[in-house]
Amino acid sequence: MNTEKTHKITFRASFIAFSLLLLSSCTQKNAETYFESMNTFMKVRCYGAESEKANKEAQKRISELEALLSVTKPESEVYRLNHTPSFPVEVSETTANLLSFCLDMAERTDGAFNPCLYPATSLWGFTKTSFHIPSQKEIENILPLTDWKKVTVNKNYITAAPGMMFDFGAAGKGFAGDEAIKILKAHGIKSALLDLGGNIQTIGVKPDGSEWTVGIKNPFGAEPLGSLCIKDEAVITSGGYERFFTGEDGRRYIHIFDGRTALPVSNNVMSATTVGKSGVLCDALSTSLFVLGPEKAAAFWKNNPEFDYIIVTADKKIFITDGIVRRFSLLPPAQEFETCIIK
Ligand code: ADP
Ligand code: MG
Repeated sequence: MNTEKTHKITFRASFIAFSLLLLSSCTQKNAETYFESMNTFMKVRCYGAESEKANKEAQKRISELEALLSVTKPESEVYRLNHTPSFPVEVSETTANLLSFCLDMAERTDGAFNPCLYPATSLWGFTKTSFHIPSQKEIENILPLTDWKKVTVNKNYITAAPGMMFDFGAAGKGFAGDEAIKILKAHGIKSALLDLGGNIQTIGVKPDGSEWTVGIKNPFGAEPLGSLCIKDEAVITSGGYERFFTGEDGRRYIHIFDGRTALPVSNNVMSATTVGKSGVLCDALSTSLFVLGPEKAAAFWKNNPEFDYIIVTADKKIFITDGIVRRFSLLPPAQEFETCIIK
């Protein structure tokens, strides 16, 4: 056989193989669901033979978690925990495990992350959107109620000081994403994208084999700051622009609190994005790094390199860790930002 003929056959064979691949990815069953849960909009898109069933079950699991963890629904377990006349309180294994995880994060971040800030966030009106600056006395009174070191979890029993209240708002959506992903995987799903109120979590790559491209929000405007290529990872952002109010003193008070002072964070961070395998960890860390600020965040990352991050500050600096630099592209509106690579 002459070489020209061999080439033709090889070309034809690869063309057929490519067409079949394209056809299979186009005809692969996919399901997309939109719903509201955990006070936000959620979207689950997955590809696979059992995609519809998988999506339904993932949505069901997220609703179950909302029913367990909501701080505002009187039927929820966390509501019951937060309104208990006395401790210890028996809770489900899920709540006990999530609280243990959050206490561990508090320990690891020297209290920047704190699951006991509910008395503070509600004092400032963030839980009912009736914002106001509390008096100094009120601020002093609630501080001891936010001391996470007083909390213990023993099997399914939680003990804390009287009046202490919990809030899983900074890690709950990431946790829900991880749970949903477990369900999708159990249904054989190898490709999925979940958008849980801006928290992006993925399984594998896109059905065509390419990586997912996600936009990173620009805290200064509507256009994305940049795009990041990911596979099998979560990308989670905490932003000070999301929920805030301007006080009578003209200052901005945001919904992310410093776990050590129980006051709204006032540093130069505009947003903190984390990238990694675990949704719950990335969610807790996005809040933690926001509180810690760029310098302490870099020190934390050097000791805990199992994730990557992007922090954007008010003076238009982007701090980005080495592990994702080559997967990140700045978009035109942000090209005048100064980029600092953390190694
Ligand atoms: P969001 O869920 O709004 O996207 P975050 O993941 O950063 O943003 O979570 C912020 C929420 O977590 C707040 O609304 C509050 O309920 C709670 N929270 C605020 N500050 C902290 C903190 N330092 N540690 C733990 N939870 C916090
Ligand atoms: Mg968070």
